[in-house]
Amino acid sequence: MRQEWHQVRNPGLEIGRPTDDSPEVKALGLDQWRSLPRAQMPPWPDLAVVDEVCAVLDSVPPIVAPYEVDSLRERLALVAAGKAFLLQGGDCAETFADNTDSHLSANARTLLQMAVVLTYGASLPVVKVARVAGQYTKPRSSPNDSLGLPAYRGDMINSLEATPEARVADPQRMIRAYANSAAAMNMLRAYLGGGLADLHAVHDWNKDFVRQSAAGERYEAIAREIDRALAFIQACGMTDEEALRTVTLYCSHEALALEYDRALTRVAGGKAYGLSGHFLWVGERTRQIDGAHVDFMSRLANPIGVKLGPTTSPEQAIELCERLNPDNVPGRLTLVARMGNHKVRDALPPIVEKVTASGAKVVWQCDPMHGNTIESSNGYKTRHFDRIVDEVLGYFEVHRTLNTHPGGLHIELTGEDVTECLGGAQAIEDVHLPDRYETACDPRLNTQQSLELAFLVAEMLRG
Ligand code: PEP
Ligand code: MN
Repeated sequence: MRQEWHQVRNPGLEIGRPTDDSPEVKALGLDQWRSLPRAQMPPWPDLAVVDEVCAVLDSVPPIVAPYEVDSLRERLALVAAGKAFLLQGGDCAETFADNTDSHLSANARTLLQMAVVLTYGASLPVVKVARVAGQYTKPRSSPNDSLGLPAYRGDMINSLEATPEARVADPQRMIRAYANSAAAMNMLRAYLGGGLADLHAVHDWNKDFVRQSAAGERYEAIAREIDRALAFIQACGMTDEEALRTVTLYCSHEALALEYDRALTRVAGGKAYGLSGHFLWVGERTRQIDGAHVDFMSRLANPIGVKLGPTTSPEQAIELCERLNPDNVPGRLTLVARMGNHKVRDALPPIVEKVTASGAKVVWQCDPMHGNTIESSNGYKTRHFDRIVDEVLGYFEVHRTLNTHPGGLHIELTGEDVTECLGGAQAIEDVHLPDRYETACDPRLNTQQSLELAFLVAEMLRG
């Protein structure tokens, strides 16, 4: 394919980049976004370097394969039809420093532990999607941080280090993000094909949690029931089943730095696949109907998500469905409600009603994190476990009332014992936050809080 280097200078809107002018790419409209208004544009100081980096990423082996993307879309079609549940979770922001064996396996393990509990609670297969291998960009509500420095925008763009030099956007970081993502996916694929995903081992970890948690007693009944179910499976001789030993964990991130996601897009079978991750989503701050992000995502064959905050009107939700899933392919579009616990019961019903009435086939997902962020008395960005649980509860109430499927959850979590969110059985309070506050961006549920949430949701699912 011929690469034509063209430089369009329209500051803030378009940036120059090698544009593949093949008829196929043109027909797919993969570069239309470049001429559209774009929120959260990374403040790249030198667009020529962005071009060079993207030329490299244009030809590297991608992070995921088209058939995997298709298989996730098919699994999400089952979620849309009420026959499966979706669990998505991981760091708010991945960092290069924390892209380690121990961090990746702890996060994956926690997600799998939650998934086992939810599988049992929902009596449905759980589709597992991690925020990993590409979650390196962050939208910011202000261009500067509290110190007056340019805001940290994720390791793909600049550094968390609090100096003016470190905060300069550096396009070369896209190459590091790619390399780290490839390494993360490589490790996860290997571990998940091996022992990490063994159902019995995962359940044993859950039993350890129940034993150790201050609220363990409450969860003992469910853990015991899962025990019995596993013993039954074993007694039936189903010990060698592939499904008991391996798990497919898909990767996802917010498609914010469009130059990165575009450079890792490949055309296969006449369709465009964003191969920087299996599942990509549009954030609350970049979902403008005529904006660059919505346009780019509308061109991909991937399953995609869009975050819906409390100001979303039902009409906007419908427009997004029409733009992002014009053929109404089930599994293609996930609507991620992140309303806040005080608003979910009022803001969500009209959206669900209108979308359902329109005939749009979507996956409904609840992100109970982003509408519940507060500042603690000692200045930490935090969230209270009780509000997170209450938003999930409200979300289930809404779907139960409207007789729609509460498809899934989207959680910021880590498999480490951090102290970033308040509450839970460990009763984390403001004064404990400094002990292990390690997130590069938003506060995550720690291991215990994550599992506690899974057990509470399992209870909710069982009614
Ligand atoms: C996120 O998922 O980290 C995020 C920034 O979410 P939202 O776009 O919903 O604010
Ligand atoms: Mn976040």
